[in-house]
Amino acid sequence: MSRLIVASNRTATPGEERAGGLAVALGEALAERGGVWFGWSGEIVPRETRGIRLFVEGNTDFALADLTAAEHQGYYLDYANRALWPVFHYRVDLAVFDDEAFESYAAVNRRFGRLLYQLMRPEDIVWVHDFHFLLLGDELRDNGWRGAIGFFLHVPFPAPEVFAALPHHHRLARGMAAFDLLGFQTARDVGNFIRYMVEEHGAERLEDGRIRVFHRVIRAQAFPIGIDPDEVARMAESEEARAAANRLGRMIENRALVIGVDRMDYSKGLPQRLQAFGRLLDDNENLRGRVNLVQIAPPSRESVEAYMDLREELDRLAGRVNGDYSDLDWTPIRYLARSYSREVLAGLFRLARVGLVTPLHDGMNLVAKEYVAAQDPEDPGVLVLSEFAGAAERMETALLVNPHDVGGMADAIRRALEMPREERVERWKALMDEVRDHDIAVWRQSFLSTLEGLAGERG
Ligand code: ADP
Repeated sequence: MSRLIVASNRTATPGEERAGGLAVALGEALAERGGVWFGWSGEIVPRETRGIRLFVEGNTDFALADLTAAEHQGYYLDYANRALWPVFHYRVDLAVFDDEAFESYAAVNRRFGRLLYQLMRPEDIVWVHDFHFLLLGDELRDNGWRGAIGFFLHVPFPAPEVFAALPHHHRLARGMAAFDLLGFQTARDVGNFIRYMVEEHGAERLEDGRIRVFHRVIRAQAFPIGIDPDEVARMAESEEARAAANRLGRMIENRALVIGVDRMDYSKGLPQRLQAFGRLLDDNENLRGRVNLVQIAPPSRESVEAYMDLREELDRLAGRVNGDYSDLDWTPIRYLARSYSREVLAGLFRLARVGLVTPLHDGMNLVAKEYVAAQDPEDPGVLVLSEFAGAAERMETALLVNPHDVGGMADAIRRALEMPREERVERWKALMDEVRDHDIAVWRQSFLSTLEGLAGERG
Protein backbone atom coordinates (compact mmCIF):
# COMPACT_ATOMS: atom_id res chain seq x y z
CA MET A 1 0.00 0.00 0.00
CA SER A 2 1.41 3.38 -0.93
CA ARG A 3 2.19 5.95 1.74
CA LEU A 4 -0.42 8.60 2.41
CA ILE A 5 0.33 12.32 2.54
CA VAL A 6 -2.37 14.43 4.20
CA ALA A 7 -2.29 18.21 4.07
CA SER A 8 -4.74 20.25 6.12
CA ASN A 9 -4.47 23.69 7.65
CA ARG A 10 -4.61 22.26 11.17
CA THR A 11 -3.40 18.77 11.97
CA ALA A 12 -4.34 16.62 14.91
CA THR A 13 -1.03 16.55 16.70
CA PRO A 14 -1.11 13.98 19.50
CA GLY A 15 -2.50 15.37 22.71
CA GLU A 16 -4.40 18.13 20.96
CA GLU A 17 -7.60 18.75 22.86
CA ARG A 18 -10.30 18.81 20.22
CA ALA A 19 -9.56 15.60 18.37
CA GLY A 20 -12.84 15.38 16.47
CA GLY A 21 -14.05 12.56 14.25
CA LEU A 22 -12.24 13.84 11.20
CA ALA A 23 -8.91 13.97 13.01
CA VAL A 24 -9.43 10.42 14.22
CA ALA A 25 -10.39 9.16 10.75
CA LEU A 26 -7.37 10.71 9.06
CA GLY A 27 -5.12 9.63 11.92
CA GLU A 28 -6.29 6.05 11.45
CA ALA A 29 -5.70 6.16 7.69
CA LEU A 30 -2.18 7.43 8.33
CA ALA A 31 -1.50 4.87 11.04
CA GLU A 32 -2.65 2.08 8.72
CA ARG A 33 -0.56 3.05 5.72
CA GLY A 34 2.15 5.14 7.22
CA GLY A 35 2.63 8.64 5.95
CA VAL A 36 2.98 12.32 6.57
CA TRP A 37 0.50 14.79 8.04
CA PHE A 38 1.41 18.27 6.96
CA GLY A 39 -0.07 21.55 8.14
CA TRP A 40 0.24 24.75 10.10
CA SER A 41 1.73 24.31 13.56
CA GLY A 42 -0.67 26.83 15.06
CA GLU A 43 2.37 28.98 15.92
CA ILE A 44 2.73 32.57 14.81
CA VAL A 45 6.30 33.76 14.58
CA PRO A 46 7.62 37.24 13.96
CA ARG A 47 9.71 36.39 10.89
CA GLU A 48 9.48 33.57 8.42
CA THR A 49 11.09 30.47 9.84
CA ARG A 50 12.08 28.65 6.72
CA GLY A 51 12.13 25.20 8.14
CA ILE A 52 9.54 22.76 9.18
CA ARG A 53 9.14 20.95 12.48
CA LEU A 54 9.13 17.20 12.14
CA PHE A 55 8.23 14.61 14.67
CA VAL A 56 7.22 11.01 14.49
CA GLU A 57 4.25 9.41 16.21
CA GLY A 58 3.91 5.70 15.46
CA ASN A 59 3.53 5.35 11.72
CA THR A 60 2.96 9.03 11.08
CA ASP A 61 5.42 11.83 10.49
CA PHE A 62 3.96 15.16 11.51
CA ALA A 63 5.39 18.03 9.51
CA LEU A 64 4.42 21.42 10.88
CA ALA A 65 5.18 24.82 9.46
CA ASP A 66 4.79 28.10 11.33
CA LEU A 67 3.12 31.20 9.92
CA THR A 68 4.59 34.65 10.24
CA ALA A 69 2.36 37.30 11.77
CA ALA A 70 1.87 38.80 8.31
CA GLU A 71 0.95 35.43 6.79
CA HIS A 72 -1.45 34.67 9.61
CA GLN A 73 -3.18 37.96 8.96
CA GLY A 74 -3.20 37.76 5.15
CA TYR A 75 -3.55 34.07 4.33
CA TYR A 76 -5.59 32.92 7.30
CA LEU A 77 -7.65 35.76 8.78
CA ASP A 78 -8.12 38.01 5.76
CA TYR A 79 -8.34 35.58 2.87
CA ALA A 80 -9.42 32.16 4.17
CA ASN A 81 -11.74 33.48 6.89
CA ARG A 82 -12.90 36.81 5.51
CA ALA A 83 -13.14 36.09 1.79
CA LEU A 84 -13.36 32.34 1.14
CA TRP A 85 -15.45 31.27 4.15
CA PRO A 86 -18.26 33.78 3.53
CA VAL A 87 -18.31 33.20 -0.25
CA PHE A 88 -18.43 29.41 0.12
CA HIS A 89 -21.35 29.95 2.51
CA TYR A 90 -23.21 32.34 0.16
CA ARG A 91 -22.43 35.44 2.20
CA VAL A 92 -20.85 37.60 -0.48
CA ASP A 93 -22.25 40.56 1.48
CA LEU A 94 -19.91 39.77 4.37
CA ALA A 95 -16.85 39.00 2.27
CA VAL A 96 -13.93 41.41 2.17
CA PHE A 97 -11.87 41.20 -1.01
CA ASP A 98 -8.36 42.44 -0.75
CA ASP A 99 -5.61 41.82 -3.31
CA GLU A 100 -2.89 41.79 -0.71
CA ALA A 101 -4.73 39.13 1.27
CA PHE A 102 -5.02 37.01 -1.86
CA GLU A 103 -1.32 37.41 -2.58
CA SER A 104 -0.53 36.27 0.94
CA TYR A 105 -2.83 33.24 0.50
CA ALA A 106 -1.11 32.34 -2.78
CA ALA A 107 2.33 32.84 -1.24
CA VAL A 108 1.59 30.58 1.74
CA ASN A 109 0.26 27.89 -0.61
CA ARG A 110 3.48 28.29 -2.63
CA ARG A 111 5.76 28.10 0.40
CA PHE A 112 3.83 25.16 1.88
CA GLY A 113 3.85 23.39 -1.50
CA ARG A 114 7.63 23.67 -1.62
CA LEU A 115 8.03 22.41 1.93
CA LEU A 116 5.67 19.51 1.42
CA TYR A 117 7.18 18.48 -1.91
CA GLN A 118 10.53 17.93 -0.22
CA LEU A 119 8.92 15.27 1.99
CA MET A 120 7.21 13.36 -0.79
CA ARG A 121 8.28 10.17 -2.55
CA PRO A 122 7.19 9.22 -6.07
CA GLU A 123 4.82 6.42 -5.06
CA ASP A 124 2.94 8.42 -2.38
CA ILE A 125 -0.70 9.31 -2.65
CA VAL A 126 -1.67 12.81 -1.62
CA TRP A 127 -4.88 14.07 -0.01
CA VAL A 128 -5.32 17.82 0.44
CA HIS A 129 -8.10 19.22 2.63
CA ASP A 130 -10.32 22.23 2.43
CA PHE A 131 -10.44 25.82 1.29
CA HIS A 132 -7.15 26.88 2.87
CA PHE A 133 -5.22 24.92 0.27
CA LEU A 134 -7.02 25.43 -3.03
CA LEU A 135 -3.69 26.26 -4.70
CA LEU A 136 -1.55 23.61 -3.04
CA GLY A 137 -2.00 21.01 -5.80
CA ASP A 138 -0.89 23.50 -8.42
CA GLU A 139 2.20 24.32 -6.36
CA LEU A 140 3.08 20.65 -6.00
CA ARG A 141 2.79 20.29 -9.78
CA ASP A 142 5.05 23.33 -10.28
CA ASN A 143 7.62 21.67 -8.08
CA GLY A 144 7.52 18.63 -10.36
CA TRP A 145 4.99 16.30 -8.68
CA ARG A 146 3.46 13.99 -11.28
CA GLY A 147 1.47 11.58 -9.13
CA ALA A 148 -2.24 11.69 -8.26
CA ILE A 149 -3.55 14.34 -5.87
CA GLY A 150 -6.93 14.19 -4.17
CA PHE A 151 -8.74 17.12 -2.62
CA PHE A 152 -11.74 17.27 -0.31
CA LEU A 153 -13.81 20.40 0.24
CA HIS A 154 -15.44 20.33 3.67
CA VAL A 155 -17.59 23.42 3.06
CA PRO A 156 -20.27 23.84 0.38
CA PHE A 157 -19.32 24.73 -3.18
CA PRO A 158 -21.73 27.59 -3.96
CA ALA A 159 -23.70 28.36 -7.11
CA PRO A 160 -21.36 29.36 -9.99
CA GLU A 161 -22.20 33.06 -9.95
CA VAL A 162 -21.47 33.23 -6.22
CA PHE A 163 -18.05 31.63 -6.59
CA ALA A 164 -17.38 33.90 -9.57
CA ALA A 165 -17.81 36.89 -7.25
CA LEU A 166 -14.31 36.17 -5.91
CA PRO A 167 -12.03 38.56 -7.78
CA HIS A 168 -9.37 35.85 -8.09
CA HIS A 169 -11.68 32.97 -8.92
CA HIS A 170 -9.86 32.29 -12.20
CA ARG A 171 -6.63 31.62 -10.40
CA LEU A 172 -8.41 29.47 -7.81
CA ALA A 173 -10.15 27.46 -10.52
CA ARG A 174 -6.87 26.75 -12.26
CA GLY A 175 -5.49 25.66 -8.91
CA MET A 176 -8.40 23.31 -8.34
CA ALA A 177 -7.90 21.74 -11.76
CA ALA A 178 -4.46 20.56 -10.63
CA PHE A 179 -6.14 17.92 -8.47
CA ASP A 180 -7.15 14.61 -10.04
CA LEU A 181 -10.06 13.87 -7.73
CA LEU A 182 -12.16 16.59 -6.10
CA GLY A 183 -14.41 15.33 -3.34
CA PHE A 184 -17.45 17.29 -2.19
CA GLN A 185 -20.02 16.71 0.54
CA THR A 186 -23.09 16.47 -1.70
CA ALA A 187 -24.30 15.97 -5.24
CA ARG A 188 -25.45 19.60 -5.15
CA ASP A 189 -21.86 20.76 -4.54
CA VAL A 190 -20.56 18.56 -7.36
CA GLY A 191 -23.22 19.96 -9.69
CA ASN A 192 -22.31 23.55 -8.74
CA PHE A 193 -18.60 22.93 -9.26
CA ILE A 194 -19.05 21.30 -12.67
CA ARG A 195 -21.48 23.97 -13.79
CA TYR A 196 -18.99 26.62 -12.70
CA MET A 197 -16.16 24.96 -14.64
CA VAL A 198 -18.37 24.60 -17.73
CA GLU A 199 -19.85 28.10 -17.66
CA GLU A 200 -16.76 30.06 -16.65
CA HIS A 201 -13.93 28.03 -18.12
CA GLY A 202 -15.48 26.05 -20.97
CA ALA A 203 -14.98 22.66 -19.33
CA GLU A 204 -15.99 19.70 -21.44
CA ARG A 205 -18.05 16.91 -19.84
CA LEU A 206 -16.63 13.48 -20.68
CA GLU A 207 -18.61 10.26 -20.94
CA ASP A 208 -17.20 8.69 -17.80
CA GLY A 209 -18.37 11.62 -15.66
CA ARG A 210 -15.03 13.39 -15.62
CA ILE A 211 -14.46 16.84 -17.06
CA ARG A 212 -11.67 18.26 -19.17
CA VAL A 213 -10.62 21.75 -18.20
CA PHE A 214 -7.36 23.78 -18.27
CA HIS A 215 -5.83 20.92 -20.34
CA ARG A 216 -6.42 18.41 -17.55
CA VAL A 217 -8.96 15.65 -16.97
CA ILE A 218 -10.39 15.68 -13.45
CA ARG A 219 -13.11 13.91 -11.53
CA ALA A 220 -15.56 15.61 -9.15
CA GLN A 221 -17.58 13.31 -6.91
CA ALA A 222 -19.62 13.41 -3.71
CA PHE A 223 -18.27 11.70 -0.59
CA PRO A 224 -20.62 12.63 2.27
CA ILE A 225 -18.62 12.83 5.47
CA GLY A 226 -19.88 11.05 8.57
CA ILE A 227 -19.24 10.28 12.22
CA ASP A 228 -18.53 7.15 14.24
CA PRO A 229 -22.11 6.40 15.37
CA ASP A 230 -21.15 3.64 17.81
CA GLU A 231 -18.74 5.94 19.57
CA VAL A 232 -21.38 8.66 19.92
CA ALA A 233 -23.93 6.13 21.20
CA ARG A 234 -21.40 4.94 23.78
CA MET A 235 -20.63 8.50 24.82
CA ALA A 236 -24.35 9.24 25.21
CA GLU A 237 -24.56 6.47 27.81
CA SER A 238 -21.35 7.35 29.64
CA GLU A 239 -21.26 8.50 33.26
CA GLU A 240 -20.30 12.00 32.22
CA ALA A 241 -23.24 12.15 29.81
CA ARG A 242 -25.71 10.94 32.44
CA ALA A 243 -24.41 13.39 35.01
CA ALA A 244 -24.80 16.28 32.57
CA ALA A 245 -28.30 15.16 31.55
CA ASN A 246 -29.26 14.92 35.23
CA ARG A 247 -28.00 18.39 35.98
CA LEU A 248 -29.89 19.93 33.10
CA GLY A 249 -32.88 17.68 33.78
CA ARG A 250 -33.17 19.08 37.31
CA MET A 251 -33.23 22.57 35.92
CA ILE A 252 -35.84 22.04 33.21
CA GLU A 253 -37.84 19.58 35.33
CA ASN A 254 -40.36 17.74 33.17
CA ARG A 255 -40.41 20.29 30.38
CA ALA A 256 -39.50 19.27 26.83
CA LEU A 257 -35.97 20.16 25.80
CA VAL A 258 -35.15 21.61 22.40
CA ILE A 259 -31.40 21.76 21.78
CA GLY A 260 -29.07 23.55 19.41
CA VAL A 261 -25.28 23.07 19.38
CA ASP A 262 -23.13 25.09 17.01
CA ARG A 263 -19.97 27.07 16.71
CA MET A 264 -21.10 30.65 16.84
CA ASP A 265 -20.94 31.44 13.16
CA TYR A 266 -23.14 33.47 10.84
CA SER A 267 -23.62 30.40 8.63
CA LYS A 268 -25.49 28.57 11.38
CA GLY A 269 -28.77 30.53 11.22
CA LEU A 270 -28.79 31.28 14.93
CA PRO A 271 -30.81 34.52 14.87
CA GLN A 272 -33.54 32.91 12.78
CA ARG A 273 -33.55 29.94 15.14
CA LEU A 274 -34.07 32.10 18.23
CA GLN A 275 -36.79 34.01 16.37
CA ALA A 276 -38.49 30.73 15.46
CA PHE A 277 -38.53 29.68 19.08
CA GLY A 278 -39.98 33.08 20.00
CA ARG A 279 -42.63 32.61 17.33
CA LEU A 280 -43.46 29.17 18.71
CA LEU A 281 -44.25 30.74 22.06
CA ASP A 282 -46.08 33.70 20.48
CA ASP A 283 -48.39 31.35 18.58
CA ASN A 284 -48.86 28.51 21.07
CA GLU A 285 -50.00 29.64 24.45
CA ASN A 286 -50.24 26.03 25.61
CA LEU A 287 -46.47 25.60 25.18
CA ARG A 288 -45.52 28.51 27.43
CA GLY A 289 -43.92 27.17 30.57
CA ARG A 290 -43.63 23.72 29.02
CA VAL A 291 -40.64 23.83 26.72
CA ASN A 292 -37.02 25.00 26.94
CA LEU A 293 -34.54 25.90 24.25
CA VAL A 294 -30.92 25.33 25.23
CA GLN A 295 -28.59 26.81 22.64
CA ILE A 296 -24.90 26.06 23.07
CA ALA A 297 -22.72 28.29 20.90
CA PRO A 298 -19.18 29.13 21.92
CA PRO A 299 -17.76 32.25 20.30
CA SER A 300 -15.35 31.65 17.46
CA ARG A 301 -13.00 33.99 15.61
CA GLU A 302 -13.91 36.92 17.85
CA SER A 303 -11.53 39.18 16.05
CA VAL A 304 -13.73 39.29 12.98
CA GLU A 305 -16.30 42.03 13.16
CA ALA A 306 -19.17 39.98 11.75
CA TYR A 307 -18.88 37.62 14.70
CA MET A 308 -19.08 40.38 17.24
CA ASP A 309 -22.23 41.69 15.56
CA LEU A 310 -23.70 38.19 15.65
CA ARG A 311 -22.98 37.83 19.35
CA GLU A 312 -24.77 41.08 20.08
CA GLU A 313 -27.74 40.11 17.95
CA LEU A 314 -28.12 36.76 19.72
CA ASP A 315 -27.97 38.39 23.14
CA ARG A 316 -30.67 40.81 22.05
CA LEU A 317 -32.95 38.13 20.56
CA ALA A 318 -32.69 35.78 23.53
CA GLY A 319 -33.29 38.77 25.81
CA ARG A 320 -36.45 39.66 23.89
CA VAL A 321 -38.00 36.19 24.20
CA ASN A 322 -36.91 35.72 27.79
CA GLY A 323 -38.16 39.20 28.69
CA ASP A 324 -41.56 38.50 27.14
CA TYR A 325 -42.15 35.04 28.54
CA SER A 326 -39.97 34.19 31.57
CA ASP A 327 -41.79 33.39 34.76
CA LEU A 328 -40.63 32.90 38.34
CA ASP A 329 -39.73 29.29 37.68
CA TRP A 330 -39.10 29.25 33.93
CA THR A 331 -36.71 30.90 31.48
CA PRO A 332 -37.54 29.81 27.92
CA ILE A 333 -34.12 30.25 26.28
CA ARG A 334 -30.85 29.31 27.90
CA TYR A 335 -28.02 30.49 25.79
CA LEU A 336 -24.64 29.05 26.76
CA ALA A 337 -21.71 30.73 25.03
CA ARG A 338 -19.17 28.04 25.82
CA SER A 339 -18.08 24.63 24.65
CA TYR A 340 -18.61 21.26 26.32
CA SER A 341 -16.96 17.87 26.07
CA ARG A 342 -18.28 15.45 23.46
CA GLU A 343 -19.66 13.22 26.24
CA VAL A 344 -21.64 16.07 27.79
CA LEU A 345 -23.02 17.05 24.39
CA ALA A 346 -24.03 13.47 23.66
CA GLY A 347 -25.84 13.30 27.01
CA LEU A 348 -27.73 16.50 26.26
CA PHE A 349 -28.61 15.31 22.74
CA ARG A 350 -30.12 12.19 24.24
CA LEU A 351 -32.16 14.17 26.71
CA ALA A 352 -33.51 16.54 24.05
CA ARG A 353 -36.90 15.84 22.49
CA VAL A 354 -35.96 18.04 19.53
CA GLY A 355 -32.58 18.65 17.86
CA LEU A 356 -32.56 21.97 16.02
CA VAL A 357 -29.99 22.03 13.24
CA THR A 358 -30.89 24.95 11.01
CA PRO A 359 -27.81 26.41 9.29
CA LEU A 360 -28.37 28.80 6.38
CA HIS A 361 -25.67 26.80 4.59
CA ASP A 362 -23.42 24.05 5.78
CA GLY A 363 -21.07 21.60 4.05
CA MET A 364 -22.48 18.60 5.91
CA ASN A 365 -23.22 19.42 9.57
CA LEU A 366 -22.05 16.70 11.87
CA VAL A 367 -24.18 17.86 14.78
CA ALA A 368 -27.21 16.52 12.88
CA LYS A 369 -25.62 13.08 12.71
CA GLU A 370 -24.40 13.19 16.31
CA TYR A 371 -27.88 14.10 17.52
CA VAL A 372 -29.33 11.07 15.74
CA ALA A 373 -26.62 8.68 16.96
CA ALA A 374 -27.08 9.79 20.59
CA GLN A 375 -30.82 8.98 20.77
CA ASP A 376 -32.46 6.27 22.83
CA PRO A 377 -33.75 3.84 20.15
CA GLU A 378 -36.88 3.14 22.19
CA ASP A 379 -37.79 6.79 22.65
CA PRO A 380 -35.88 8.94 20.18
CA GLY A 381 -36.13 12.67 19.70
CA VAL A 382 -36.90 14.45 16.43
CA LEU A 383 -34.34 16.12 14.18
CA VAL A 384 -35.41 19.44 12.68
CA LEU A 385 -32.95 19.99 9.85
CA SER A 386 -32.21 22.79 7.41
CA GLU A 387 -32.66 21.84 3.79
CA PHE A 388 -29.41 23.75 3.13
CA ALA A 389 -27.25 21.55 5.34
CA GLY A 390 -25.39 18.96 3.26
CA ALA A 391 -26.81 16.36 5.67
CA ALA A 392 -30.34 17.03 4.35
CA GLU A 393 -29.53 15.44 0.99
CA ARG A 394 -29.74 12.00 2.57
CA MET A 395 -31.65 12.56 5.80
CA GLU A 396 -35.10 12.97 4.35
CA THR A 397 -37.01 11.64 7.34
CA ALA A 398 -35.88 14.54 9.48
CA LEU A 399 -38.35 17.42 9.57
CA LEU A 400 -36.77 19.49 6.81
CA VAL A 401 -37.13 23.25 7.10
CA ASN A 402 -36.16 26.39 5.26
CA PRO A 403 -33.89 28.14 7.81
CA HIS A 404 -35.00 31.57 6.55
CA ASP A 405 -38.65 30.78 7.19
CA VAL A 406 -39.20 31.61 10.85
CA GLY A 407 -42.89 30.63 10.79
CA GLY A 408 -42.15 27.33 9.07
CA MET A 409 -39.51 26.49 11.65
CA ALA A 410 -41.86 27.33 14.52
CA ASP A 411 -44.41 24.94 12.98
CA ALA A 412 -41.79 22.20 12.61
CA ILE A 413 -40.75 22.51 16.26
CA ARG A 414 -44.38 22.26 17.33
CA ARG A 415 -44.88 19.23 15.12
CA ALA A 416 -41.77 17.62 16.56
CA LEU A 417 -42.98 18.24 20.12
CA GLU A 418 -46.33 16.66 19.34
CA MET A 419 -45.06 13.71 17.31
CA PRO A 420 -46.24 10.31 18.59
CA ARG A 421 -43.63 7.78 19.59
CA GLU A 422 -44.21 5.34 16.71
CA GLU A 423 -43.59 8.05 14.16
CA ARG A 424 -40.50 9.22 16.01
CA VAL A 425 -39.10 5.70 16.08
CA GLU A 426 -39.83 5.13 12.41
CA ARG A 427 -38.20 8.37 11.31
CA TRP A 428 -35.24 7.87 13.61
CA LYS A 429 -34.56 4.36 12.30
CA ALA A 430 -34.28 5.62 8.74
CA LEU A 431 -31.97 8.43 9.86
CA MET A 432 -29.81 6.06 11.87
CA ASP A 433 -29.48 3.71 8.87
CA GLU A 434 -28.15 6.62 6.85
CA VAL A 435 -25.74 7.69 9.61
CA ARG A 436 -24.42 4.13 9.69
CA ASP A 437 -24.29 3.67 5.90
CA HIS A 438 -22.18 6.82 5.53
CA ASP A 439 -20.00 6.76 8.59
CA ILE A 440 -16.54 8.26 8.80
CA ALA A 441 -14.77 5.01 7.89
CA VAL A 442 -16.81 4.62 4.70
CA TRP A 443 -16.03 8.23 3.83
CA ARG A 444 -12.28 7.87 3.99
CA GLN A 445 -12.15 4.40 2.45
CA SER A 446 -14.30 5.35 -0.50
CA PHE A 447 -12.34 8.54 -1.13
CA LEU A 448 -8.99 6.80 -0.91
CA SER A 449 -9.97 3.83 -3.06
CA THR A 450 -11.35 6.16 -5.75
CA LEU A 451 -8.13 8.18 -5.62
CA GLU A 452 -6.01 5.06 -5.82
CA GLY A 453 -8.02 3.91 -8.83
CA LEU A 454 -7.21 7.19 -10.57
CA ALA A 455 -3.58 6.95 -9.50
CA GLY A 456 -3.44 3.45 -11.03
CA GLU A 457 -4.76 4.81 -14.32
CA ARG A 458 -2.08 7.50 -14.35
CA GLY A 459 0.43 4.68 -14.06
P1 ADP B 1 -18.56 23.07 11.73
O1 ADP B 1 -17.47 22.18 11.20
O2 ADP B 1 -19.01 24.14 10.80
O3 ADP B 1 -18.30 23.61 13.09
P2 ADP B 1 -20.11 20.60 12.11
O4 ADP B 1 -21.47 20.45 12.69
O5 ADP B 1 -19.87 19.82 10.88
O6 ADP B 1 -19.86 22.14 11.90
O7 ADP B 1 -19.01 20.10 13.16
C1 ADP B 1 -18.94 20.68 14.43
C2 ADP B 1 -18.29 19.72 15.43
O8 ADP B 1 -17.93 20.48 16.58
C3 ADP B 1 -19.24 18.63 15.89
O9 ADP B 1 -18.53 17.43 16.10
C4 ADP B 1 -19.79 19.19 17.20
O10 ADP B 1 -20.14 18.20 18.15
C5 ADP B 1 -18.66 20.04 17.71
N1 ADP B 1 -19.21 21.22 18.40
C6 ADP B 1 -20.02 22.14 17.88
N2 ADP B 1 -20.39 23.05 18.82
C7 ADP B 1 -19.78 22.67 19.94
C8 ADP B 1 -19.77 23.18 21.28
N3 ADP B 1 -20.49 24.23 21.62
N4 ADP B 1 -19.00 22.53 22.19
C9 ADP B 1 -18.29 21.45 21.85
N5 ADP B 1 -18.29 20.92 20.62
C10 ADP B 1 -19.01 21.52 19.68
